[in-house]
Amino acid sequence: MTTLPVALTLNAGSSSLKFSLFDISGAPTQMAIGLVENIGKQPRLKADLGEALPAVARELKPEDAVDHTAALATVLALLRGSFPGAKASVVGHRVVHGGPHFAEPMVVTDQVMAELKRLSPFAPIHQPHNIAGIEAARAAFPEALQVACFDTAFHRHHPKANDVFALPREYYDKGIRRYGFHGLSYEYVSGELKRIAPQIHAGRVVVAHLGNGASMCGILGGRSVASTMGFTALDGLPMGTRCGQVDPGVIFYMVQQEGRSIDEVRDIFYTKSGLLGLSGISNDMRILESAGVPEANEAIDYFVFRIRRELGGLAAALGGLDALVFCGGIGENSRKIRRRICDAMDWIGLELDHDRNDKNARVISTDFSRARIMVVPTNEEIVIARAAKRLSAMPEAAAAE
Ligand code: AMP
Repeated sequence: MTTLPVALTLNAGSSSLKFSLFDISGAPTQMAIGLVENIGKQPRLKADLGEALPAVARELKPEDAVDHTAALATVLALLRGSFPGAKASVVGHRVVHGGPHFAEPMVVTDQVMAELKRLSPFAPIHQPHNIAGIEAARAAFPEALQVACFDTAFHRHHPKANDVFALPREYYDKGIRRYGFHGLSYEYVSGELKRIAPQIHAGRVVVAHLGNGASMCGILGGRSVASTMGFTALDGLPMGTRCGQVDPGVIFYMVQQEGRSIDEVRDIFYTKSGLLGLSGISNDMRILESAGVPEANEAIDYFVFRIRRELGGLAAALGGLDALVFCGGIGENSRKIRRRICDAMDWIGLELDHDRNDKNARVISTDFSRARIMVVPTNEEIVIARAAKRLSAMPEAAAAE
């Protein structure tokens, strides 16, 4: 049997492990994608294994995904059974926080691992799970190269004025900076613009990544200039369960006047706020759109309001606007939200074509719109697979193993 070189990509969340398998014999092409969810509770496995194989959607026994290591073993058993000729020589990992120094994907060495652990307090909800995913993969594939790809890296060269908080200077040196996240998504979308609309790519673009996590980024000539997210993936737009921007004074109030512990406040900000908190119904935009009750509508109103407000701010940071690009589950699918965001935005040069918007076309602005409005489905996994292939082809990568 001939062996097929493949890259496995992993995105380890608190109770989920998302995976993709890419053929890397040429430009990476996706062979399979799936996830184990509800790890540690009542886990389920879902996978799309390409056209030749049936999709998988089944409950797992708790012991098959008691933690990330067990979940990865379950995934590998599925992939090895489905693609017996595939040999993973490299595993690419999504890592939320690369701190001030990681501006590129890195081969994971013991030193890099130590740095990732040091950065854990910067992303306490995400980073420890990313690390657990890397540790599980290192144990399962001791011979494979592990590559870490950072959600912060795309923003690392943004201007200093957008890198600082107005806190005493020493905090900047301690790493308290505006990092920005969703960088893998922005890198993909910016790369797609370069391919399909090079003039737009060379100009002033705002990308709105609107999913369960949500942020926006101002990109000038392919480089991040400003993002709505800051030190942690909590700032900026309201999200599924995260609050987005709030006055830090709210934290003092909750702690001092309500007697809440910092852990409680953190839990409220990360898991009980955003669309879920405001609506009291759900974090899921589809459910809110169909709910038709005032609380759901208010949550949507706030979501749209913040996006429109940030759009103005980012356009100011860019010195104008050549395109607004939507991606993420909401950005790619919700015509209603896109319509509301673009409504009466002619002052900034945006004119939505309702017909194109209703058809989910790639370009959804009118032919007369000064700035273009586009929908570009994102693909963070392929950004990881490309980096994994690139680094595995470099001689110093082999030396780092
Ligand atoms: P993501 O985190 O990128 O997978 O996006 C998840 C979000 O996208 C959830 O809030 C979903 O409700 C939302 N979403 C997905 N499809 C649609 C749709 N057709 N209309 C509205 N929202 C959608």
